[in-house]
Formats: sequence, C-alpha cells, structure tokens
Amino acid sequence: MYQTFIGLEIHIHLITNSKVFCSCRNEFGAEPNTNICPVCMGYPGVLPSLNAEAVRKSYQVCMALDCTLNETAIFERKNYFYPDMPKNYQISQFAFPFGINGFFDIDLGGGTVKRIRIHDVHLEEDAGKMIHSGGVSFLDYNRAGTPLLEIVTEPDLASGEEAEIFLQQFRQMVRYLGVTDGNMEEGSMRCDANVSINEQGKGLGIKTEVKNLNSSRFVNKALEYEIKRHTKVISAGGTIIQETRLWDEDRNVTRSMRTKESSNDYRYFPEPDLPPYLPDKDFLQEVRESLVELPLARKGRFMSEYALSESSAAFVTGEKEIADFFEKMVQHGVAPQTAARWLSGDVQKQLNLSGESLKASALTPERLSRLLVMVEDGKISRDAAKKVLAAIFTENEEPEKLVKDLGLEQVSNKEDLEKVVSEIVNAHEKVAEAIRNGADKQIGFLMGQVMKATAGKANPKIAQQLIKNNIFKQG
Ligand SMILES: [Zn+2]
Repeated sequence: MYQTFIGLEIHIHLITNSKVFCSCRNEFGAEPNTNICPVCMGYPGVLPSLNAEAVRKSYQVCMALDCTLNETAIFERKNYFYPDMPKNYQISQFAFPFGINGFFDIDLGGGTVKRIRIHDVHLEEDAGKMIHSGGVSFLDYNRAGTPLLEIVTEPDLASGEEAEIFLQQFRQMVRYLGVTDGNMEEGSMRCDANVSINEQGKGLGIKTEVKNLNSSRFVNKALEYEIKRHTKVISAGGTIIQETRLWDEDRNVTRSMRTKESSNDYRYFPEPDLPPYLPDKDFLQEVRESLVELPLARKGRFMSEYALSESSAAFVTGEKEIADFFEKMVQHGVAPQTAARWLSGDVQKQLNLSGESLKASALTPERLSRLLVMVEDGKISRDAAKKVLAAIFTENEEPEKLVKDLGLEQVSNKEDLEKVVSEIVNAHEKVAEAIRNGADKQIGFLMGQVMKATAGKANPKIAQQLIKNNIFKQG
C-alpha cells in the first residue's frame, strides 16, 4: 500500500493599478509591449520601488492563512536566464518571505475539514510572455514586473481530488479577499503541483513536479496520472526520476520537460536595490481589521443562523457578492430558504442568459426582495414573479412598475372573484354536485376554469376558498 504526498505552488496575480516595482499599468489584454518601461525591462542603472498596494494584499493573504509574519522580509534575486525575463533575474523572496507556517482548512463536505499546512507566502514579480507561432517566437513584456504572490503548501494533500478541492476553495477565499480575480484561463491564478508516493509510514518519496495546469480539473487529472505512473514504476522495482513534467491536455498524459533545478542553481542573494521590509504594527493592525469573513466560516454560520442545508449554504457562500446579496434579502424580510432558492435557481438562470455578473446586473437585493414579498402577500403568482424577474434584467425597472406594465397583478379582490366563481359554478352544476358528494379532486377542474376566465390572475388560495364556499353554500 502506497501513501501519496501532494504539494501545490499557487501563483496569484494581485489586483493593483501599477506593477510591483515600477509605475507601468498592471492590466491583462493590452496591446503587446505597451505597458513597459526601463525598470521592468531591466535597463542598467534603474531602481525598483515597492508597490504599497501589492504589499497590503500580500499581508491580507498571509493573515487569512494564519501565517507567522517575519519581522523583516527580504527581497532576493533569483538568477536565471530566459528570454521572457530581460533582467536575467527575478526579484522574489526566499529566506525571509512575508509569511511562513500557515494553514488552510479545506471542506470535504459532510462536516469533514482537512487542515493543509502552508509553507510560506512570498511576493515576486512575474515574467513576460512568450508566444510561439508559425515557427517564430514573439515576446510580450507587458506582464513582466506585475505583482505575483506565491503560496506554497506542505505536501499534505493525498489525492488529485483533494488538490482540486483545495484550489477551488482557495480561489473562493482569495476572491473573497478581493486580492485577485483568480481567473485560471487568463493566467491570473496558476498552479504547479508536486507529487511523490512511498510505502506507508516511510515518508516522502522522490517527487516530480507538474506544470501547465490551467484549471483545477487538469490539476486533478494530471496528479491522478502521475500517481498511477509512480505506482507502476515503483511496483516494478524502478526509481522515479526527479524532474519537471508538462501536462498535455490533448493526450491526457504528462511528459518529461527537464530535470529539476535545485534552489542552489538560482544563486539567490539579497536584492541590493530594495531595503529589508519591516511592516509596522499599525499597518498590520489595520490590515487585520480589514479582513472579511471567509467562505468556510460564512458557510458554517449560514447553516446555523439561517438553517440552510449544506448544499444551499455552499452555493450561497461560493461568491462573496452572492452571500452579501443573500444577507441583504434576509434583512429585507425574505425567508432565508426562499432567498437561497431564488438565488441558486431563477436568478442564476437569468445571469447565464444575460452573461452579466450579479453586481453588474440591474437586479438589486431591494428589488428582488420586494418582488418576493409580493408573492408572499398573494399579490402576484410565482410564475408572474419569474416573468418580472426576467423583465428587471432587460428593462432595468422597479418590480412594482413591471407588475403593472405586464398586467400581472393577481385578482385578490373577493367581490370580483366571487362573481367569476359563481358564474363558473353555475355553468358546471354537475361538477359542483359531484364535489358535494365527495369528489374533492374535481375542485381542480373548477380552479382551472377560474384561471382561464381571469387569464391566470386569480389568487389561487382565495379562488379555491371561494369555490368551496360557493358549492357548499348552495348544497
Ligand atoms: Zn515598468
């Protein structure tokens, strides 16, 4: 029986206006080589200066992961040659990063939580981008020098599935913090995974590292592939070669890329142009107070405070904007279950149709709450509410106005309804007689007739009561 050890190195692009050591814009998708300057292009004689917002966001992540903060953090040069790195070194942190020895709890469902230790969190600059096309390679340096935060876990994950869950929940967490958009396809969150297996109780085996994993699903698949490959080699008496492998998403295999450098090969040394960084107490206190409630804690609270089911709570707390929206609806008097059901059902459907985010859409917690209170009060039917919801997205109008414009107000006025009911009962005397003799189910037929006569606008509860009154009064 073999034991599996998986560790992840996650890189997230921090959301800042400018790059980490110069004032070039930090944006995705700009015209190639338009956001560059002598600093990020590594011209001789230039000096880096540290971006305060990148530092602040780094500390938010360190604190959310319960890291120990180094009293002094030191930037170092990681030396290597590659065309996407014009300086021939990358400014990173090595011996004294911002944070060390943290943890992140992953939620495996059904109340099972697994603690994954965090080795360290360090800030560095990203490299440029190489684009290979038609036998030629192009270089775009817009990304060079953008702030990149690297989070390194201990090898505490035991399967590809656990790694996938870790990534999904970690992504949720950093999006809650607002430090990154976490878009794996655009590369603003990237992941390398290392894996080894060994006989139970014998500790870590020889590891391989897998790169080129741009979705959490691929991380899972690539790791499962590697675990099988390691098992096969070791069971046959062979030895694993320590190396870096690439995930080939078209063929669903990993293949050898290069034998792994050790950190010695990078000749790290302290960056002479940046002083050691000593965070001051007030700054750290202020960052700590700015932290929001994180997804796992919020999910637990939603289950106990609002009596939501686990799956409901998981959906609602999956994105901070949905969780905030939900809580505002509850404050506006909507029952928690109703709010959760609409948010995960019809609202989600409308968002998919419009391709908008909840925040950018015309739907506000106030509008949806008022709409659902109208359903609760019997002013409109559930089906009518769905029509109004769709119209809010397209018309950007208040629900009360849309109910009127679309003529969806239910007839709850008893006198009007009584008239309709008595006409229908008179026209179907035989059915009425049958109901008097115990054929309860036939009330449905009369309800259908009332709905038809009122174009679906009769309040069903009131209509049903009136039908019964009418039939039994005559009997
Ligand atoms: Zn620059």
